[in-house]
Amino acid sequence: SSILSNVLPAPEDPVLSVIFACRDDPCPVKLNLSVGAYQTEEGKPLVLEVVRKAEQQLANDLYCDKGYLPIDGLADFNKFSAKLILGDDSHAVKENRVVTIQCLSGTGSLRVGAEFLAKHHQQRVIFVPNPTWGNHPFIFTLAGLSVEYFRYYDPHTRGLDFEGMLEDLGAAPSGALVVLQACAHNPTGIDPTLEQWEQIRQIVRSKGLLPFFDNAYQGFASGNLDSDAQSVRMFVSDGGECLIAQSFAKNMGLYGERIGALTIVCTSEDVARKVKSQLLLVVRPMYLTPPIHGASIVTTILKNSDMYKDWTIELKGMADRIISMRQQLHEAIQARGTPGDWSHIIKQRGMFSFTGLNEKQVRMMAKEYHIYMTYDGRISMAGVSSKTVPQLADAIHAAVT
Ligand code: PLP
Repeated sequence: SSILSNVLPAPEDPVLSVIFACRDDPCPVKLNLSVGAYQTEEGKPLVLEVVRKAEQQLANDLYCDKGYLPIDGLADFNKFSAKLILGDDSHAVKENRVVTIQCLSGTGSLRVGAEFLAKHHQQRVIFVPNPTWGNHPFIFTLAGLSVEYFRYYDPHTRGLDFEGMLEDLGAAPSGALVVLQACAHNPTGIDPTLEQWEQIRQIVRSKGLLPFFDNAYQGFASGNLDSDAQSVRMFVSDGGECLIAQSFAKNMGLYGERIGALTIVCTSEDVARKVKSQLLLVVRPMYLTPPIHGASIVTTILKNSDMYKDWTIELKGMADRIISMRQQLHEAIQARGTPGDWSHIIKQRGMFSFTGLNEKQVRMMAKEYHIYMTYDGRISMAGVSSKTVPQLADAIHAAVT
């Protein structure tokens, strides 16, 4: 007799079904635009030169061991990660009221933050944008929080529903948690302007909401690490509290290394000390301590000013290629006289474009043009190249005419 034979199969992940459909398509010019990982103009994954260099250095370092890290990870990694998002002269850091712990990339940082909040915050409601990254609701629900949505995307303008967003945040119960994507919003590619961020900040603070920033794409939206951190820094400079989940998957291309950090900005050093002690209790029964390799790579790069500079150049190269793909795609669509306004393709930022194509059109493009994207019409701009722009523009034209 089997106990496990009673296990029911899990419902199929809609993203995986797109990936499988593409994998099984024998067409040689098929194009997978569903995955959120950077690719070169040649359609290849990219390991940054500076990462290779850091790994060389680590391999040659006789004192570099494979021992356990502390529960909160590599101390220098935490220090430099906090500096990266909060800025060189952050008051919060100087006042010792910032806690940073190394976690398993962005996802792990979100999960540890959520577990901590579920245990220590009375108000369990967490508001996420509609739509948001598909994993957010799972992460927060499993941690014991109750997920609700605030309006974010306006399908009519293919832009931000700013009025709706302010209205929903304004109606949220006091103390509620709010997930804000720091930049390069997934899946829409739509970020608030700085003026809009300031209004969001005012609502969040006046209603006593607790912001939880998801910072998975710092540097990927504008190509500049500081510009992409402005939303977060605006909230930190008002002296209030916030949480930040940080990932080095995209901006250092360290996807599989699972390296990221959770930062909690507190109101005093005393609060920070207590918060840190509780974070250690969240981590210990989950995975004891985080992995060492990715943390060593990131720390090597962040600590060395030459390597840091090399990194910013390579990062800007990735962001610029994506921006250039947006322009090329927009021009190609215009050149075909495709009906409708497609300016959202160049207005949106970061890895993804929310095209506005519906599920029927997405399925048609897969069947007839061998182009695969998620059913919400989201394409990864990082999967497009100058060579594939015409194929994509032809498919979009055919889908809407
Ligand atoms: N947050 C957002 C908005 C994302 O798009 C992703 C990945 O796609 C993540 C977090 C988590 O990425 P990782 O766990 O690889 O850092």
